[in-house]
Amino acid sequence: MKKASIISVGNEILSGRTVDANCAYLSARLLSMGIPVVSAYTSRDDTEAIVRSLELACADADVVVTTGGLGPTEDDLTRNAVAEFLGVELEIRPGLVAELERFFVRRGLRMPERNRIQAYVPAGAEPIENSLGTAPGIRVETKGKLLFVLPGVPSEMKGMFEGSVVGQVEQFGGGQFVVVKRLRCFGAGESTIAEMVGGIMERGRNPLVNCTVNQDGITLDIVATSENREMAAEMAAKDEEVLRARLGDLVFGTGEQILGEVVGQELSRQGKTLAVAESCTGGLVAKLLTDVAGASRYFRCGWVTYDNRAKMAELGVGAELIERYGAVSEEVSRAMAAGARREAGVDFAIGITGIAGPTGATEQKPVGLVYISVDFHQGCDTKRCTFPQDRASVRRRAALTALNMVRLKLKA
Ligand code: ATP
Repeated sequence: MKKASIISVGNEILSGRTVDANCAYLSARLLSMGIPVVSAYTSRDDTEAIVRSLELACADADVVVTTGGLGPTEDDLTRNAVAEFLGVELEIRPGLVAELERFFVRRGLRMPERNRIQAYVPAGAEPIENSLGTAPGIRVETKGKLLFVLPGVPSEMKGMFEGSVVGQVEQFGGGQFVVVKRLRCFGAGESTIAEMVGGIMERGRNPLVNCTVNQDGITLDIVATSENREMAAEMAAKDEEVLRARLGDLVFGTGEQILGEVVGQELSRQGKTLAVAESCTGGLVAKLLTDVAGASRYFRCGWVTYDNRAKMAELGVGAELIERYGAVSEEVSRAMAAGARREAGVDFAIGITGIAGPTGATEQKPVGLVYISVDFHQGCDTKRCTFPQDRASVRRRAALTALNMVRLKLKA
């Protein structure tokens, strides 16, 4: 199996000013072409440092793609580094000078002298046309490795990769096919999921099962590689079946599906309606639901009852409940959900009350404590959660947990 390595060049990436979007894009694209990225290096704008990265990347992989450092300024050193790495001189290509001049003429400008540097290419390498900017790319084959040197500006890099690199890499890859299936999970942590799925996540296995975690849940990517497209699809489908059997209700969707969308689809399919009464999430559940087009089919309305007076006036939460149990309590979240269901005349209603922090905690009620209730025809379910992170994370986790409770209720 052919492998790839990526080098991102630029001080702005190392200082954190620029997030390395090029690397993310290239990794996903190369993998989808059957060439997994086995390493990625970030180099500062320094010839020696770039040469070192080229040596490491070429030792790791068969295809190396660099981005950045092809501009006309002093700190754009990638072409010098590639020449040094290859042990050749940079040579001017008159055709490229003419192309650069035309680029400026089309914009009614005269080409600054500095841009001539972009017409230099290492001897023996081929320039790659840049239809979106001034920096031509470079392609070179050395010691059985294929090296592509692309500009840093993401739109230029993508244009050049898709237009001039993909075809060559596919040919070089020698007919490997990769099928990626993505399962989206919610309701358990990474280690619980790893335990449940067992040996299927072993490294070096084909299909490879990768697990990524973020606030919106856990994503499992099944990456099947084969010389035959149908075989790769069959291998991925088999693993999907195994994972679904092991994870059960934790799997809420596939591909890029999000919880708000999955809940909406199921409400719509069952002809059910929903309302929300939110306190600490400040309308986030309503937002997640209405992010999806067509939500009016099932989403009736929402209340953000932040102040206790609003909880009482809008939702009929009893003053004695608040006094006796506090605004952040199981009783109040249930009363909020029941009030919302009654007032909106819907099938399901969510009630959320909690302490998003960083202030507002008491000895019995820490930051991150959230009560979530789902009221429906046959009763009311409540979950007491303690989310460990910052305000934004507590709010997002609470909103998603509420949606997940509705999803599970709809499945029951
Ligand atoms: P140009 O000739 O347009 O300057 P270049 O090849 O020299 O192109 P750089 O100067 O390295 O590219 O980067 C140009 C801009 O592109 C950077 O300021 C940054 O905003 C963006 N960029 C560079 N590398 C990356 C990357 N890896 N991910 C996302 N953005 C990037």
